[in-house]
Amino acid sequence: MKLNIVCIPGDGIGPEIVKQAKGALDRVASVYGHEITYKDILMGGASIDVHGVPLTEEAIADAKAADAVLMGSIGGDTTKSPWYKLPPDKRPEAGLLKIRKALNLFANLRPAVLYEELADACPLRGEVRRGGFDMLIMRELTGGLYFGERRTVTENGVRKAVDTLTYSEDEIRRIAVKGFEIARKRRQKVTSVDKANVLDSSRLWRAVVEEVAKDYPDVALEHMLVDNCAMQLVKDPAQFDVILTENMFGDILSDEASMVTGSIGMLASASLNDTKFGLYEPSHGSAPDIAGMDIANPIATILSASMMLRYSFDLDKEADAVDRAVKAVLKEGYRTGDIMSDGCTQVGCSEMGRLIAERIS
Ligand code: NAD
Repeated sequence: MKLNIVCIPGDGIGPEIVKQAKGALDRVASVYGHEITYKDILMGGASIDVHGVPLTEEAIADAKAADAVLMGSIGGDTTKSPWYKLPPDKRPEAGLLKIRKALNLFANLRPAVLYEELADACPLRGEVRRGGFDMLIMRELTGGLYFGERRTVTENGVRKAVDTLTYSEDEIRRIAVKGFEIARKRRQKVTSVDKANVLDSSRLWRAVVEEVAKDYPDVALEHMLVDNCAMQLVKDPAQFDVILTENMFGDILSDEASMVTGSIGMLASASLNDTKFGLYEPSHGSAPDIAGMDIANPIATILSASMMLRYSFDLDKEADAVDRAVKAVLKEGYRTGDIMSDGCTQVGCSEMGRLIAERIS
């Protein structure tokens, strides 16, 4: 298969971790007989330094022409970097918002996985985390409260603020379809999270999700109220496979789920549109405090590349091989500094990348 990938190394540790993810993809290509072409584009601070803007139209066109985009991370030290003296629409993060909009990325996927070997990093008690957990939060990214009409007015001398939460059935249907499709590649369970006891938008959400579920009889569907879900995530995280939810609930629940894994350097993410196209990136930022030191953990980015193989290219066997290689390296006791524990062998970013690539078979 021919894989046409655009890479955004970005800022801080971005170039170091993307290099390791490319190493893993190259190994996949040579073991499984695929052909990968890469094109690097600039975004964030790296683009500001060269072009004066965080993302150019040419870079967007390159991204649109690709099958998928692999990103490191963008941004610098927000207190010290000159990038943050620029107006908000010229700062590094504006590039990220612009590319998400240009590529119509409405579905955000964040897996939260607790690896047996890293169980000590999990803040939950032993009997709660049991044999680990492996869930994926599917969050609607372009609708709901964050994109609704808003205003602040003063009425009779009293300030009043209004935010509107709107969802159309089409917006709900397209993310629900993604959720069920992805559940089919996992453990065939969707937990749809809403606040249907209070909100009209949630009642519509629930009704449309029920309609979509009819096309996926092989996938089990349950509904859960968002307040209960927040509790269940720390009470019994292993019960979840795919959590499907709207923008604001997903924003909050995905951070909660990440926290219970305890290891930010391990968490991948993807943002998809209504085709197979996606942008894949680690959940963490550009870590300017450790940039250029070859100590960053490249695993979140390598696992993002694995998600790319699975969700943009339907190369599930290859994605499984990458995931297995990550588990093997952890089992053998290799750790980067951020996940180091007693009795393990500490390695740097490039060595961790090399060890993982070597084990892809
Ligand atoms: P951060 O995630 O970059 O760093 C938080 C802490 O985690 C730091 O101590 C860092 O060293 C550590 N860390 C993060 N990733 C790591 C890794 N792979 N290996 C080892 N340690 C790691 O968050 P921050 O410091 O709040 O933000 C730094 C910059 O990143 C800011 O400019 C912010 O805007 C940007 N940011 C970008 C994205 C993105 O590109 N999608 C996301 C979040 C933050």
